Amino acid sequence: MSNKEKYEYRNRVVELDAERQFRLGDGKISGYLSVFLGALSLLAVLAYLYPSLLTTTELRKAYDAEKLQVVLKYGMYFSLFFGAMTHFLKKYRRLGCAGILLTLLAFALGGYAVPVGPVEPMELSLGVDWLILALLGSAAIFLSLEKLLPKYKNQVILRAEWETDFIYFCFNHLAISAILIYANYHTSHFNWAVSPSFQESFQALPTVLQFLIVLVAADFVLYWEHRLFHVVKCLWPVHAVHHSVENLDWLAGSRGHFIQVFSERAMVMVPLYLLGPSEGVLNAYVVFAALQAVLIHCNTRLPFGVLKYIFVTPQFHHWHHSSEKPAIDTNFGAHLVLFDWLFGTMHMPKTHWPAEYGTTKPLPKTIVGQTIYPFSSLVKMMRTKSRQGRDR
Ligand SMILES: [Zn+2]
Ligand SMILES: [Zn+2]
Repeated sequence: MSNKEKYEYRNRVVELDAERQFRLGDGKISGYLSVFLGALSLLAVLAYLYPSLLTTTELRKAYDAEKLQVVLKYGMYFSLFFGAMTHFLKKYRRLGCAGILLTLLAFALGGYAVPVGPVEPMELSLGVDWLILALLGSAAIFLSLEKLLPKYKNQVILRAEWETDFIYFCFNHLAISAILIYANYHTSHFNWAVSPSFQESFQALPTVLQFLIVLVAADFVLYWEHRLFHVVKCLWPVHAVHHSVENLDWLAGSRGHFIQVFSERAMVMVPLYLLGPSEGVLNAYVVFAALQAVLIHCNTRLPFGVLKYIFVTPQFHHWHHSSEKPAIDTNFGAHLVLFDWLFGTMHMPKTHWPAEYGTTKPLPKTIVGQTIYPFSSLVKMMRTKSRQGRDR
């Protein structure tokens, strides 16, 4: 504790990367928007053509596929418009061409007029619909927040390694049904602990109370699961992938080894399964958890007032990602600061934010390298152990 008090906090310096910056009027914004909307339009048309294979059974209940065709229509026209803009601005024409080509391909496959019919549900599918909606929603909400209230003004949208995190983002959303199948299989091991009479009385509680209990129970599981990933030697390399990101923003939280992504979702399903809250509460928790998971990684100075002493906020989770000494192995909570406070792992200076992010030991930069990293670390650990055994 005394070490923490003596610690000299520094301010993080982020240099403006002019090469990666978006500037009004040079065509780069139009080019990227054209490709972004063109690619999403093509994916959406494919999802309309092959809904059994490319949409998520659980998510389909939450949206009206016919109404979303109107959004698709505007997305396609805007992609063409922004693509044409790059030609007038005479820069980034290649990006503009790529965007236009993607949209024309989407038109050729039927565009926004593909008939919407009944869908044959498949157990395993790709969550293309989930990916498109999450990308549009995240880009609209969190990018606006980062631009309006940035913590580090000089940090650009296309910061170093954004491509890596974008691929993680896509994987985590496309694999949604595989994750759910695994999570359901995992929770089925707890069938013996399910009590219908307990669940009935739980559902009779006021909605707000149900939500709060669900939040605390889920956070208790997530806290310990997270802490184990930090302290168990062979698990750390799996979780280190999430910590290897050095510029936090709305996309950074997506970086995570698939073992962690699958195990985290499976673990958090257990308290939800046992408590059995009403459907509305469960949906509210899923939405809250999804938004908070992105928000806490955001590059934003959004003021939370006293709420920052109750809920996990960007400042709290940014400290979790810091490689500075007093912050190492602290702030494990996902939703609330409660368990970090209770178990003595909280690091939350009043005003300071970290100056350094990432892991103390560098990790591979590529996705393949990061995917293999926990396995190669395990092999190294086993070799060292057997060598030590021989030397004794
Ligand atoms: Zn961690
Ligand atoms: Zn994180």
